[in-house]
Amino acid sequence: MRLHEKISGYKCMGCGSEYPITPFIYTCGSCGENLDILFKYEEIRDSWSKADLRAEADSSIWRYHNLLPVESVPKDRSICVGNTPLVKSESLASSYNLKDIWIKDDTRNPSGSLKDRASEVGIQHAIENGFELIVAASTGNAAASLAALTAFYGKKALILVPADAPIAKLTQILQYGATLCRVDGSYDDAFDLSLEISEKYGWYSRSTGINPILSEGKKTVALEIAEQLEWNTPDYVFVPVGDGCIIGGVHKGFYDLHRLGWIDKIPKIIAVQSDKSSAIVDALESNRAIEPVEATTIADSISVSRPRDALKALRAVRESSGFGIKVSDEEILAAQKILASSTGIFSEPAGAASLAGLMKASRTGLIDSADSAVILATGSGLKDIKSAQKLVSAEDPIPPNLGSFESFIKGKGLGN
Ligand SMILES: *Cc1c(COP(=O)(O)O)cnc(C)c1O
Ligand SMILES: [Zn+2]
Repeated sequence: MRLHEKISGYKCMGCGSEYPITPFIYTCGSCGENLDILFKYEEIRDSWSKADLRAEADSSIWRYHNLLPVESVPKDRSICVGNTPLVKSESLASSYNLKDIWIKDDTRNPSGSLKDRASEVGIQHAIENGFELIVAASTGNAAASLAALTAFYGKKALILVPADAPIAKLTQILQYGATLCRVDGSYDDAFDLSLEISEKYGWYSRSTGINPILSEGKKTVALEIAEQLEWNTPDYVFVPVGDGCIIGGVHKGFYDLHRLGWIDKIPKIIAVQSDKSSAIVDALESNRAIEPVEATTIADSISVSRPRDALKALRAVRESSGFGIKVSDEEILAAQKILASSTGIFSEPAGAASLAGLMKASRTGLIDSADSAVILATGSGLKDIKSAQKLVSAEDPIPPNLGSFESFIKGKGLGN
C-alpha cells in the first residue's frame, strides 16, 4: 500500500494536535511532545489479510510493510532485520511457575539488538525523503545498529555517544565505518546535542523519542510474536525500558493487530526498569508525571535519566492494564546468568532485565500460574563483556595431566 493509503497523519501524544503526513515533522509544533502515527485500519483490513501474510515470501520485518509508515520497501533486504526466534522455555516456566514462557531472542538481529528494527525503517524513511546523512545519540545499541544498516544501505551516519558507552558497542560503530563523536557527559547530554546538530545542519535524526518512525519499526517485534504464536497472544509481555520507545512500539504492534481484528486481546505489557534508572516505573507507581532521576544502572541500554518516549511507555502499560516493576542491578545480573544457562540465549544486562522483572513478579504474586508470558531479550551479551564477567570467572589453568584433571572435575556434577 502507498503511504497515504495506510496512514492518515500524526497525532501529538501530549496535546492531541493532529498533523498531515509531512516527512520533516518530528515533534508537536505547539507543545513539543512526541507524535504518534495514525493508521487507516479499515483500508488496511480491506486490502490485506492473514492469508496474504502467510503467502508473503519475505521473512524480514518488511513482510509487515502495510503497517509501516514508509512509501515503499528497500529493494535489497537481504541483511534481514527481524524474523528472530521465539524460544519456548519449559525450564523457566517451571522455575517461575507460569504455564508458558517464551523468549523473543532479538539478540539475533544484524547488529545484535532490537534497535535494528527501528534503524531499518528510519533509514528507509530517510532515503525516501532524500537524506544522505543520519545523526543519532545513543547509549550504544541504536548507534551500532544505525552504523550497521547505513553501511549496508550505503549511507552516512554520525553518532554521538556518552563517554562511558561499553567498548564493544564503540568498536562496532567504528568497524561499521560511522563517524563517532564521544560526548564527555551522559546519554542525556549526547541526546540534547544531537537534536541541536540535526536541526542546525538539516540532517535526519534517528534519535529515539523525537522521531515517530522509530517506535513503528520497533513494533514489528510484537507483530512477529503474534504471528509466531498463530495470533494467540500471551497474557504478559515483559519489556526492559529506558526511553520507552520499545515498550511503546510493543503496544502499538498489538494495538494495530487488535484494530485489524487479527488478535482477540492485547497482552498486559509490563515495564521493567532498574531501581537505579526508574523514572517510568516511578511515574506508573505514583500515578504522576515523569520526574527525571539520576540514572546509574549497570544495564547501560536502559540507563536513562530523562526518558524521551515516556508518554508512549505510560500509555502502553496503562492501556494494556499492565504494571511497572523495578529490579536491582544484582537481580538483573543474576537473571542474565539464568537466561544464558537455562535457554542458551546470552543477553546483555538490559536485555535480561525483562526476565528479572518476571522473576520478581512471580515471587511477589503479581502473575498467575495459569498465565503465559513472553520476555524480550533485547540485546546480545557480547556487547558488554565486562558486566557479563561479574558473576562468572574462569578457574586457574591446570597442569596437563590426568591427575590434575581428576581433582579439577570433582564436584562439577559431571559424573563420578
Ligand atoms: C534501547 C534498549 C532498551 C530500551 O529501549 P527503550 O526504547 O530505550 O526503552 C532495552 N534493551 C536494549 C538491549 C536496548 O538496546
Ligand atoms: Zn502537542
